[in-house]
Amino acid sequence: MFKLENFIRENVKLMKAYSSARDDFTDVAEVYLDANENPFDSGINRYPDPYQKKLKERISEIKSISTKNIMLGNGSDEVLDLIFRAFCEPKRDNAIFTPPTYGMYKVLAELNNVNLKPSYLDVNFDFRVDELLNQIDPNTKLILLCSPNNPSGNSIKEAEVKKILDRSNCLVVIDEAYIDFSNMNSYIDLLSIYPNLIVCQTLSKAWGMAGIRLGICYASDAIISVLNKIKPPYNVNVLTQQKAIESIENIENFNSNLEEILKQKKKLKAALREIGFVKLIYPSDANFWLIKVDDANMRYKQLLKEGIVVRNRTNEILCENCLRITIGTAKENDKLIKALKELQS
Ligand SMILES: *Cc1c(COP(=O)(O)O)cnc(C)c1O
Repeated sequence: MFKLENFIRENVKLMKAYSSARDDFTDVAEVYLDANENPFDSGINRYPDPYQKKLKERISEIKSISTKNIMLGNGSDEVLDLIFRAFCEPKRDNAIFTPPTYGMYKVLAELNNVNLKPSYLDVNFDFRVDELLNQIDPNTKLILLCSPNNPSGNSIKEAEVKKILDRSNCLVVIDEAYIDFSNMNSYIDLLSIYPNLIVCQTLSKAWGMAGIRLGICYASDAIISVLNKIKPPYNVNVLTQQKAIESIENIENFNSNLEEILKQKKKLKAALREIGFVKLIYPSDANFWLIKVDDANMRYKQLLKEGIVVRNRTNEILCENCLRITIGTAKENDKLIKALKELQS
């Protein structure tokens, strides 16, 4: 049986959350003299809504999930940091991750003084579920999964996720930064069955708003309450909340951009297949291709000379001679394809 009580750090249980002016008075008034704000209206002179009610309502509508199961952060990076801080006792607890994967997990674990144990993917970047389950010990609090995974691009199969959720008594975090590019369903569908599941999404990728920094966490009411208790009160600023609401209300724009990126992704794959020094194109459910080339360092530098920067992943485990290429606009991709063709002749 999963008991959240056993996962919340003692100091987090004992601490009192900051009570802001906006917490003390949530009604509507004519005159606000309670928060030492500047009274001259500029659209941003007031503190933001600490619980982002309007924005959560919009997200709740498009994701068909209650606002009580949503917590928002200053990017997924903040959300993930809060998860470490809420549930992992520094120097004692540990978390499991599945390299090669997103680099921030390691940074956040180190920052929080939490040991991060690797469960390596296999050569096809598939998850080795039994091996992962074997890594769990009594101090393992988190299992961090990324689906679709960065930098490989593949997704974890539902049966495997369910096996991990069924067989482990840990909090299982699934980072779905790229889910909107994928044909797979989000694992938020499993939240009603698994009280130990946390799903993270972001507006940074398919939504095209990396600059506003909005990360979304979906979990049980109880987990969301813990994260709300420890988050900085005004972690999502007024401009971010406004922009995010605007974009969600203009979903046609999201859909057309997404469609174009997926079309470009297909086109880029066909072109990459024709390049002799591209040895492998890994399956991808995300907005990038991970490719294996003859010499990643050399190809990286050659592309840079043409003014094109890709991500050289050759030093990552299992990614020898791999480049990660984000899908750009038609014009950008054409430039890339032209450069690659010229390099092989
Ligand atoms: C890009 C990315 C994110 C996004 O993080 P934000 O802080 O929301 O911009 C999260 N996880 C993975 C795996 C990513 O690749």
